[in-house]
Amino acid sequence: MSDYKMNTKCVQSGYTPGNGEPRQIPIIQSTTFKYATSEDMGKLFDLEADGYFYTRLQNPTNDYVAAKICDLEGGTAAMLTSSGQAANFYAIFNIANCGDHVVASSTIYGGTYNLFHVTMRKMGIEFTFVEPDCSDEELEAAFRPNTKAVFGETIANPALTVFDIERFAKAAHAHGVPLIIDNTFATPVNCRPFEWGCDIVTHSTTKYMDGHGAGVGGCIVDSGKFDWMAHAEKFPGLCTPDDSYHGITYAERFGQAGAFITKATAQLMRDFGSIQSPQNAFLLNLGLESLHVRMARHCENGLAVAKFLKNHPKVSFVTYPGLEGDKYYDLAQKYMPNGTCGVVSFGVKGGRKAAETFMKHLKLAAIETHVADARTCCLHPASATHRQMNDAELVAAGITPDLVRMSCGIEDAEDLIADIAQALEQV
Ligand SMILES: *Cc1c(COP(=O)(O)O)cnc(C)c1O
Repeated sequence: MSDYKMNTKCVQSGYTPGNGEPRQIPIIQSTTFKYATSEDMGKLFDLEADGYFYTRLQNPTNDYVAAKICDLEGGTAAMLTSSGQAANFYAIFNIANCGDHVVASSTIYGGTYNLFHVTMRKMGIEFTFVEPDCSDEELEAAFRPNTKAVFGETIANPALTVFDIERFAKAAHAHGVPLIIDNTFATPVNCRPFEWGCDIVTHSTTKYMDGHGAGVGGCIVDSGKFDWMAHAEKFPGLCTPDDSYHGITYAERFGQAGAFITKATAQLMRDFGSIQSPQNAFLLNLGLESLHVRMARHCENGLAVAKFLKNHPKVSFVTYPGLEGDKYYDLAQKYMPNGTCGVVSFGVKGGRKAAETFMKHLKLAAIETHVADARTCCLHPASATHRQMNDAELVAAGITPDLVRMSCGIEDAEDLIADIAQALEQV
């Protein structure tokens, strides 16, 4: 981890060219890498030497960008994945297998909920969902002897609940398991979960990190703080020899700092192959170079829009953790004193139909299955991202049928507010 401040890290971390080398990160558009002898290559396959042999496992462009995100989060190792979905799947599956159990926040992204509740359940992994502000008793009761991790989102998409990182980290650690946090919405510019006891961070880099709606991607970062060997009986995949890698024990060979990411790369990326393309990693880095500048504007616009909506007679409620009086304002102040995100949720009086009418009349804000983009966009989750959920599941995920999710971009706040005002007029 470098000692530079966040703004400098966003611009400079991850790649330092040598004398006469390209200033910008080179796109290594090559599936494979050449070696002089078979012995040289054999050492790579045995994880005895560092190097590249096949882009499904590792690629230098991706590694430069992963190193930047690692530095932004203050971690010890990181890897890029093809999507945020792949990042969350790998982060869990790296330590939880058939017969295991995970405690997760109920107010998580709909895609992650499906992954956990439907697809990973089919793989034999059970999830218990708890509300982010459940009682201590409820949280305690969620753990089982076979629990392997706790999972939540810093700011949940789209419920905008704020996860009490310290509280969940304490509970996870009391049960000898790591806390995994999806930090997509806050980004490391606004929140660094490792500073509050979180062990592993995931990202959908598709969102603010890319920031321009250019490439789908994901990332996993390890804090290096979780002592796998101290709980070896829970994590045999990290703490006993891997037959598919000549009997390497990851936690021994790569230590606390490197075991998690090395295993996820060597086993999961090898077998599932959800690699980010080097071209997309290059685009992601362009986004990262301005992340700190954009986040400030996203937050400024989000707050201005939230304040406007709060006082509007046609709006039934506003949810924005950066807005004074919001249920999660105090937690947001604790974990994200410089700002939360640009996403504001609100209800249009009149329910589902009114929400749809409002959205139809927006001119600047486009209807998109997307958030966290330089351009303002909005979505009606009940009829789009969360349509797989029944009403009870929707409410448990913090979503009502009239809820509109507005992702404020980096345009001029006055224009955004004027657009929203005229569309509300039409309802
Ligand atoms: C979008 C999103 C994901 C999924 O990421 P993709 O890159 O779309 O696969 C996961 N978590 C959160 C919080 C998200 O917003």
